[in-house]
Amino acid sequence: MIKIIDPHSHMFSRTTGDYARMAQANIKVVVEPSFWLGSERQYAESYWDYFHHLITFEAKRAEKFGIKHFTFVGINAKEANAKKIALKAISGLSKYMNQPTVLGIGEIGFDKITDAEEDVFRRQLALAEENKLPVIIHTPHQDKPKGTERICKIIEDMKLTKEKIVVDHNTEETIGITKGLKGVWAGHTIYPTKLSPERVIKILRKYGTDKMLINSSADWDDSDPLAVPKTVEVMKKEGFSEAEIRQVVYDNPVAFFKQSPAFKI
Ligand SMILES: [Zn+2]
Repeated sequence: MIKIIDPHSHMFSRTTGDYARMAQANIKVVVEPSFWLGSERQYAESYWDYFHHLITFEAKRAEKFGIKHFTFVGINAKEANAKKIALKAISGLSKYMNQPTVLGIGEIGFDKITDAEEDVFRRQLALAEENKLPVIIHTPHQDKPKGTERICKIIEDMKLTKEKIVVDHNTEETIGITKGLKGVWAGHTIYPTKLSPERVIKILRKYGTDKMLINSSADWDDSDPLAVPKTVEVMKKEGFSEAEIRQVVYDNPVAFFKQSPAFKI
């Protein structure tokens, strides 16, 4: 049975039963980027409590099912527009980014593609680069190609280490743009409003499996924490070799995350 890593899942909003099913489906590692909880935070301190919760309670909850849990800390794009709170939250980020199970900074990027979002995004990218940490970048739901182009331009402009960056939530519309920026990793989210396993497979056929990642982005919305193992089953039926499948769901995430000294499995 192929070992699986889900490189982007918001277990904060899932139940213990989900962990049990994930363990049964051979998910060995889950990586949880920080996100918007569904309502705007009223205080910068709320971010810090959330980071603390992920690296303590959530890591322990996963461990009970034999799943290793890692965290990415960061201020999401949607809440970057409450700039005063966002900047204060960033000022406390270094305390969390060096914790034993924290791999890097994310998810950060664009939501409505505003200047405030760009400023908060750039500050966190600079922090990651300075500390040699990996980054998970969220591409926006609206104006996705435009947002992805702006993300790629910022990465070039800041002369960042591309190998340490995953540009996430790609679709057919953006994968060409992401792949055009040689060196970065490309994430794909199997989610009812994003991509189906069949659509991800078409992208993998066209662009290959090198530096490609797939994730569930499971959260409190209509999503599936088993999206990655379910896609593995569709890949098998569609004739992908075991080596190709393993590359996408295990070897690639290991290669990306092990760029962080905290990634020990
Ligand atoms: Zn997410």
